[in-house]
Amino acid sequence: MVTRLYTHPVFLEHITPPGHPERPDRLRAIERALDDEAFAALDRAEAPEGDEATILYAHPQEFVERVRATIPDTGIARVDADTTASPKSWQAAVTAIGAANAAVDDVFRGNATNVFVAARPPGHHAEKTTSMGFCLFNTAAIAARHAQRQHQAERVAIVDWDVHHGNGTQDIFWDDPSVLYCSTHQMPLYPGTGAVSETGAGNIVNAPLAPQTGSEVFRDAFLSRILPALDSFAPDLIIISAGFDAHHRDPLAEINLTEGDFDWATGQLMQRAGRHSDNRLVSLLEGGYDLQGLAFSVAAHVGRLMKG
Ligand SMILES: [Zn+2]
Repeated sequence: MVTRLYTHPVFLEHITPPGHPERPDRLRAIERALDDEAFAALDRAEAPEGDEATILYAHPQEFVERVRATIPDTGIARVDADTTASPKSWQAAVTAIGAANAAVDDVFRGNATNVFVAARPPGHHAEKTTSMGFCLFNTAAIAARHAQRQHQAERVAIVDWDVHHGNGTQDIFWDDPSVLYCSTHQMPLYPGTGAVSETGAGNIVNAPLAPQTGSEVFRDAFLSRILPALDSFAPDLIIISAGFDAHHRDPLAEINLTEGDFDWATGQLMQRAGRHSDNRLVSLLEGGYDLQGLAFSVAAHVGRLMKG
């Protein structure tokens, strides 16, 4: 049982404007939380350089060039209302993709049982042809396709417990029954998608949560909707879009989860990975904007990944 952690110094160099919630300190808080004896057995690795060609797994070339053109030589450029780019943002985004793809390689080659990727910028709001919601490219979607193209995975499941709906991931796999997309998220909330009625080709499972709800409603959504969907889909790989902004301390939403809920949900997904995908599980950091809530939640999540 080996749990690997990928991160890279360039993830701190994606600079956002002062006061922006998606900031480099998020990764520093995670680093501090995992710099503890309890995580001594974590297999720490530097994310490899990403392969830009793999961006095309989820986005058209014309869009990739459009994003490249927004990267400024100095300062901070606006990409959309709340998404920005700094000079190192391209390298950070491509390295995040490199880390996620390497994580997929690791679990298929048996180099690791599961992997947590602590990267930024996040990815799940990036649609086929739109960067939005702090996200440039959809890292989770690219990693899912990488598993299919490089490791002959037939079915990949993406479970997204970020408090915001992963409209980008849903958009990319809307008519692709080879990828199951399951999401718990607060509704109403940004970006506005994620109703139960949005089912794609029968491969989209949305479990919206009402504001001010917490553990009970979240766990019930897992037990009644998401875990049964995973069992009938029987994925060859489970990818978690692991946002921790449903934590009760988070300033961007009103769902009241605790780190214990992330521990529990991780355990449930590991059980399904054990049942269907030879334990293969890759977890990618998405949101989480209260530094203490994020640190506690990632510690609980990674601790569970290591314990099995
Ligand atoms: Zn979020």
